[in-house]
Order: sequence, then C-alpha cells, then structure tokens
Amino acid sequence: MLHIIITQHKILVHQNDEKISLPQKEHISQIKHMLISIVQTDEYLVSGIDPVPDNFPGSLKLIHLRQALNYFDDALLKVIVYYQQLNSYYDTHKFCGICGSRTMRQDKNKFLLCSQCNHEVYPHIAPSIIVRIHKGDEILMARGINFAPNVWGLIAGFVEVGETLENAVRREVHEEVGIEIKNIRYWGSQPWPFPSNSIMVGFTADYKSGEIVIDPVEIEQAAFYNRHNYPGRPGTTYSIANKMISEYLSQ
Ligand SMILES: [Zn+2]
Repeated sequence: MLHIIITQHKILVHQNDEKISLPQKEHISQIKHMLISIVQTDEYLVSGIDPVPDNFPGSLKLIHLRQALNYFDDALLKVIVYYQQLNSYYDTHKFCGICGSRTMRQDKNKFLLCSQCNHEVYPHIAPSIIVRIHKGDEILMARGINFAPNVWGLIAGFVEVGETLENAVRREVHEEVGIEIKNIRYWGSQPWPFPSNSIMVGFTADYKSGEIVIDPVEIEQAAFYNRHNYPGRPGTTYSIANKMISEYLSQ
C-alpha cells in the first residue's frame, strides 16, 4: 500500500540517502493522528495533513510537487496529480458560493453539494494552451522570466473568459512574442497541478509573419531553434512541453 499524503502543493516523501519514495505504512505510524483520509483504493491511501507540523519524524519530509515530478514515474505522477487537484478542489470549495453554507462531499458523484440550498459545486478547472510553432526546420522556444537556469519551453498561457482555445493560442503568441501564426492543430492535453487546477491543451502551429518582439513581463528570451542548436529543455520530463519538444527532436 502506497501512501499519497498531500498538502496544497507539497507531498510527503520518505528519503533514504539520495533515494526518494512514497512512504510505506511503517514510516507514517507516528503521524497517523494528523492524517485526514481523502480516498482509499486497493493500491493507494490518499490523505491530507492537518495540522502540518514544522518537522516530521525519521526520514519523512515534505517536498514541492515540482520536485516530485522528477522522482516518480509517469503512471504514479498521474495518480499524484489527480489527487492533488481533487484535494485542492475540496480545500477551496468548503462553502457554497450562493448561500455560504458548508458544502458536503458525496460518495458517488465527484462534485460537492451545498448542505442548505443543494447548489452543485463542480471542480474549477482552468484551461491553458501551449503551442509548438514551426518555421521551416525550426521551432520557437522561449524562457519565461521565472524559469530556472537552462530551462526552456514553449509559449503557453491561460485561456480567458469567452475565448476559444484557438483564439487563446493566437493571442498568447502575439502577446508574448509578437508574431502571427497559422495552421493551428490540436496535439494533446495534460492535467497540470500548477497553480493547482489547470489542464494544458497542446497545439502545433506554423509561423505566418512578423518579427519576434518579446513581452519582457513574461518572457526573458525567445527564438527559433533547430534540432542541433536548441538551448535547453523543460524542467521536468513529465510536462507536456517536454513531450512536445521531444517529439520534434526525434523526428
Ligand atoms: Zn448553498
């Protein structure tokens, strides 16, 4: 039985020398009273922690979910991201937005129900687009202003109210790097836990016109690169950005 213990953007792990893994039953016996069960399956016991102590006993520690992306395989990360997003939804929808009463979890349906007015409170999922722009043999790669050294990615951003996904792709590209694109095609999607409730929707597109002019509020560097001179990769192999760039590099 693996224990997925999450609190906001952190996950509890067991560290043995350099090896990071999910804690087993024997690791968490001393903190059992702090755990709030979220769900139990045949393979996983998923819990939150309240209160979160300053220090954990033994070799337990909380690490940021971004770090965790580098320690676990894709199948386990899918499970971790799913429950992190579900937990975040529960944490941020404790009260009804209409009458202010407590919401209740239901056994069968995956939404919360107001205990007074029966308002159904569905998870808030925030779509974001990400786009791989091709220009001949090159693709546009960019560094956001908050990226770690040597980390590069693709143009991405949140979809705004009233916008189609394709319009969001065109707008983000125009805002962040000043160029126009064409032939926008769906690539794939990925639930993404940052800030907490995103789904990244990936597209490819072709360069149409314009010179690159970066928006310095969001982008530090951006240019077209080919398979031989690309400047870096995303910070984690789990991200859709990395999968989209890997596909290009392998072609
Ligand atoms: Zn209500």
